[in-house]
Amino acid sequence: MKGGLYLEDKILRRLFLGFIQIHILHHANEHPIFGLWMLEELKEHGYDISAGTLYPILHSMESEGLLVKEDQKVEGKIRKYYTTTEKGNAVLIEARKKAHELFKEIKE
Ligand SMILES: [Zn+2]
Repeated sequence: MKGGLYLEDKILRRLFLGFIQIHILHHANEHPIFGLWMLEELKEHGYDISAGTLYPILHSMESEGLLVKEDQKVEGKIRKYYTTTEKGNAVLIEARKKAHELFKEIKE
């Protein structure tokens, strides 16, 4: 039973990783985002993920050329802001179409 729940959790996490990335692209396209802000935003949408999960996602999206990072000093600390690149915007447009199509089909 416990094993079953764990597996279900693992499968959902894998699916949510894609949603989370689309969500990141959506907001980074609207304005520069930083990790903590994104964590709060995701929490509001019911994704309780940790910084330890989110930061590697941001880093890999950056190295894939979807996001560009800019360091800014805020209250004496360096804060990393991310915005979408042209490639990131193109992926967002495509993902939005796909998400919309899927939603039309699977909604109850
Ligand atoms: Zn949002």
